Amino acid sequence: MDNEIMVRLVWQKLARGDLPRALPKSTWGGRCRERHPCAACDQAIEAGAMEVEADCVDGVTRHYHGLCYRTLESARLQLAGQSAVAPPRRDRGF
Ligand SMILES: [Zn+2]
Repeated sequence: MDNEIMVRLVWQKLARGDLPRALPKSTWGGRCRERHPCAACDQAIEAGAMEVEADCVDGVTRHYHGLCYRTLESARLQLAGQSAVAPPRRDRGF
């Protein structure tokens, strides 16, 4: 997927509330063990690809491509009006 399209999709989903603006309760990064859709770009994450699994504040566990998750994180920071100080990272592995 084109990176620009993916970035736009992440912002749309944040605006619509399809993706939570709050940081997840916990995240895990590693190799995908079984194919499932990415919550950000809706494309499949293939087994063996790098993925991030996030336990979200709304109680939903979402899976993301590594790149999609980084895009989501940077969009969240921009929404929060972050400048120099970033909130503590809670993810492990990435
Ligand atoms: Zn993705």
